[in-house]
Amino acid sequence: MSIQQGDLRSAAQIIADADAVIVAAGAGMGVDSGLPDFRGTEGFWRAYPALSKVGLRFEEVASPATFQSDPRLAWGFYGHRLMLYRRTLPHAGFDILKKWMARAHRPGIVFTSNVDGHFQAAGFDPRVVHECHGSIHRLQCTECATPPWSAHSLFPEIDEEQCRWVGPLPECPSCGAMARPNLLMFWDGDWVSTPYDEQEEHVQQLLSEMKRPVCIELGAGTAIASVRSFTQGVVATHGGKLVRINVREQATDARLGIGIAMGALQALKGIDELL
Ligand SMILES: [Zn+2]
Repeated sequence: MSIQQGDLRSAAQIIADADAVIVAAGAGMGVDSGLPDFRGTEGFWRAYPALSKVGLRFEEVASPATFQSDPRLAWGFYGHRLMLYRRTLPHAGFDILKKWMARAHRPGIVFTSNVDGHFQAAGFDPRVVHECHGSIHRLQCTECATPPWSAHSLFPEIDEEQCRWVGPLPECPSCGAMARPNLLMFWDGDWVSTPYDEQEEHVQQLLSEMKRPVCIELGAGTAIASVRSFTQGVVATHGGKLVRINVREQATDARLGIGIAMGALQALKGIDELL
């Protein structure tokens, strides 16, 4: 039996023993659906060549300051991502997780730093999903305090070569000021987190009822640590075990659980075959 096969077997055992399944996802989860993960500046520029030409890094484009200084560029980037996430199908690993979650004794939860809405698109109950960085499928006003609203009636037209929004910019239905995506950007003190605070409250309630959960952490790197601090916090306070699935950063303290050096889809399929 290879080392990886042994790791998959241990993970399957942990999942079989758990009373509830907690899914915690970072950018690596979307890679198998064909989404870019913006890993490093080079990775970001490969996905957005127009921004490479003007030398703008992800952190610079994804900021409230850019919505003020160059709204057509900022909306060109987010409008493109909105369309990309809408037309991309979540990979088969989502269904595997949904199945494990349904089979467990107690209801499971999802904690995700991804703003793509793919857990909901894959059929997860929206009430068990906490989107810790918000969602690209909601908008908020840049001026007034109107609550965030759905982006479903927004149909971006983008000049992809220039990464620029074409036509009238999205507006707030209450005051007419420019709207922005209701997600956490870099250096973002204006993000309205209320919809996600409500998600968190419900998810925390479910979490408090679990006795020996398994935390399945997928594609969450060390650079943006929200997902990792969540999983480590859950294991520390609620008991249970961590199954960390990560191509490059799989190292895991043996007292917490096990790390598997694989992509999300490959690992989930491998474990599912053993369950
Ligand atoms: Zn407004």
